[in-house]
Amino acid sequence: MPHSRSRRVFLRKVSRQWVAAPIACRQNLLAMTAPEAFDPQSTVATHYWHKLEDGRVQCDVCPRFCKMHEGQRGLCFVRANQDGAVVLTSHGRSSGYCIDPIEKKPLNHYLPGTPILSFGTAGCNLACKFCQNWDISKSREWDTLADAAAPEAVAFAALRLGCRSVAYTYNDPVVFLEYAIDVARACHKHDIKSVAVTAGYMTPEPRRELYQYMDAANVDLKGFTEDFYFKICGGHLQPVLDTLVYLKHETRVWLEITTLLIPGQNDSDEEIDRMTRWGVTHLGPDVPWHFTAFHPDWKMLDLPPTPPATLTRARRIAMDNGVRYAYTGNVRDEEGGSTYCHHCGEKLIGRDGYKITAWSLDSGGKCRTCGTGCAGLFEASAGTWGARRQPVRLKDFVA
Ligand code: SF4
Repeated sequence: MPHSRSRRVFLRKVSRQWVAAPIACRQNLLAMTAPEAFDPQSTVATHYWHKLEDGRVQCDVCPRFCKMHEGQRGLCFVRANQDGAVVLTSHGRSSGYCIDPIEKKPLNHYLPGTPILSFGTAGCNLACKFCQNWDISKSREWDTLADAAAPEAVAFAALRLGCRSVAYTYNDPVVFLEYAIDVARACHKHDIKSVAVTAGYMTPEPRRELYQYMDAANVDLKGFTEDFYFKICGGHLQPVLDTLVYLKHETRVWLEITTLLIPGQNDSDEEIDRMTRWGVTHLGPDVPWHFTAFHPDWKMLDLPPTPPATLTRARRIAMDNGVRYAYTGNVRDEEGGSTYCHHCGEKLIGRDGYKITAWSLDSGGKCRTCGTGCAGLFEASAGTWGARRQPVRLKDFVA
């Protein structure tokens, strides 16, 4: 069995024990755990936290506001109380690297066709029952298994491998923001862009700092009811909406949205209608929206996969409400995956899965038929990376 597969199987096994406990129980379990020593190689100071009167410290990075005793970890598992201060314990460590097509993040309007070096660490600040990466996002044992990667090594690898950008993905960069920022700074020295793939569940101050260093983001809007966020994801809707509005109106970060549609949970006409109307009103018509298919995973094994017709229906509702660029995802659908001019209807970028099959934009990102601009960042022609996924061993790229 290849090493990477063994590791994945192991991670899944240990993660199962951790995530089997409900969120409230997990915090109690953590509270009962004896103070532990964190690996000094991957532990760094953080600054979004404060001391409480009872001696604990409170992390202020996300709306969970975990309150931790000495030696205790927060709910995301990678931030912890060490010597009366909140530290990040996963700096410079990763659960793996891979070159992906940028369309897989998904970003359809940002350097289409180019390769993106993708990585994550471990831990997550939400608890989605349908998580597709739960062996990474919920792992408790990752730190003995993960690869070491200094920010400069990540940037150097991206450069050597011809990647135009680096993605903070697989788990949410919110929980490892100090590491993500250090990697982004190293990447910018080589003109390599940074892309956050995130649920957007964070508080205003760290949000402001993180997005100073990001060039693009794909934010999950997982549903449009507080009930869905609370019961299915263990969080709240409003902070995510706040992040979307912030990114669109107060930054230069290129923004796209993903909504995973789950049968019977968040896929009604009424919810998609309200959600996309909100999007057009508060974010404008140019933010691309990806409706992607759910596959049974993790704690949602009892539901069927999303029928392709549901994605097509959601795309149609979004476009009827004024979303100019709506896509279907996780299914083979050439029409739903392609980009069309919102003015004349010309196919601007044809896609078959992650492969680009047609290109009808000029060097200024305008429709070759009618001259209308297409929102996003484009070059004179599409990249040629195609649909490949290529695992990368970072230790081969130590500068
Ligand atoms: S980032 Fe982690 S430790 Fe901080 S509040 Fe959120 S879940 Fe808790």
